[in-house]
Amino acid sequence: KTKAPVVSPQPQGTQRQTGVVAISSSPNATLPSAPLPPMMPDTPNPEHQAWNNRVNAALKNITGVDESAARQILNEIIVKGDEVHWDDIAGLEQAKTSLKETVVYPFLRPDLFKGLREPARGMLLFGPPGTGKTMLARAVATESQSTFFAISASSLTSKYLGESEKLVRALFALARALAPSIIFVDEIDSLLSTRNDTGEHEASRRIKTEFLVKWSDLAHAAAGKEHKDGDDAQRVLVLAATNIPWAIDEAARRRFVRRQYIPLPEPETRLKHIQTLLKYQVHDLSETEIRELVALTDGFSGSDITAVAKDAAMGPLRALGDALLSTPRDQIRPVKFIDFEASLKNIRPSVSTEGLRAFEDWALKYGSSG
Ligand code: ADP
Repeated sequence: KTKAPVVSPQPQGTQRQTGVVAISSSPNATLPSAPLPPMMPDTPNPEHQAWNNRVNAALKNITGVDESAARQILNEIIVKGDEVHWDDIAGLEQAKTSLKETVVYPFLRPDLFKGLREPARGMLLFGPPGTGKTMLARAVATESQSTFFAISASSLTSKYLGESEKLVRALFALARALAPSIIFVDEIDSLLSTRNDTGEHEASRRIKTEFLVKWSDLAHAAAGKEHKDGDDAQRVLVLAATNIPWAIDEAARRRFVRRQYIPLPEPETRLKHIQTLLKYQVHDLSETEIRELVALTDGFSGSDITAVAKDAAMGPLRALGDALLSTPRDQIRPVKFIDFEASLKNIRPSVSTEGLRAFEDWALKYGSSG
């Protein structure tokens, strides 16, 4: 597979313009004086050029959106490059199947998913931290060839506070204009929790309301088949992730038609994950020792296992001390089982047994089966 180039947002003011872009706040608004920067620098790369053209066309189509909010979305929220594919994610077969059915197939074959097969407008991924929820969301975007908008709900209510409502409006407008789109909201609980209803945080409550309104608009537009050029509400999905699903209020919870539990990895998944991590590392672990590691990492999340492997890989270097600076690479000893044993003493699973039970209870009560 060829990976797309990683394109980081351009620092302001350094872009070369590929064309004038206008966002009209009303249909009759005049062009803004400074043209918006395009997503990518002026480049002969046809893929980038095509993207620039799409962005320009999208921006011309949307109305009622704050210009700087749209710019912020384009520069900070849309993820380009550094793609994740299904194969990069160990295990989670059930979640992958469910995501294919809910998102990937409908996005790639919209003609088949109509009427009773109407695709869901919202899907929730819940489970302990570090189990691959973000990776799954990114894989869905790659595999469904969608524009991927990634935003953390806590940054909406902190970093962007004051701008958040405008940002939410721009987010949904751009997602519709650049469809198929995945709006991935990490830590969705901080946006849709019951505590936002108390009136204590007026601003947070307003953002929550704006988000729910725009999300409903999406469903209405899709149901009404308001399909005009440059606005495809049918193929926009809100995919959200949370480590504390019980904090989401009931009304918001019901909007996630599918609620997919992302559990701690099973032994087979841990085996695959460990094998992948060791693939490019010089090591001398036997099959039996790898099996032993699988048993020792019971209760560990994917990111816990990654942390253990990274720490263990440092073992051979730690053993050298300052001699590390003068030792040729081929004389550095392989990573051994004892390195893993040492790391496992320091790195403990991040989820407790009681913590896990809370997820399982919630999954039984509110999770989607299958
Ligand atoms: P979450 O969003 O559930 O908190 P992430 O998707 O951000 O977790 O995963 C954190 C890191 O843990 C990833 O970058 C990856 O290195 C590792 N990881 C977690 N789960 C898996 C998995 N199933 N397969 C491969 N790597 C995983």
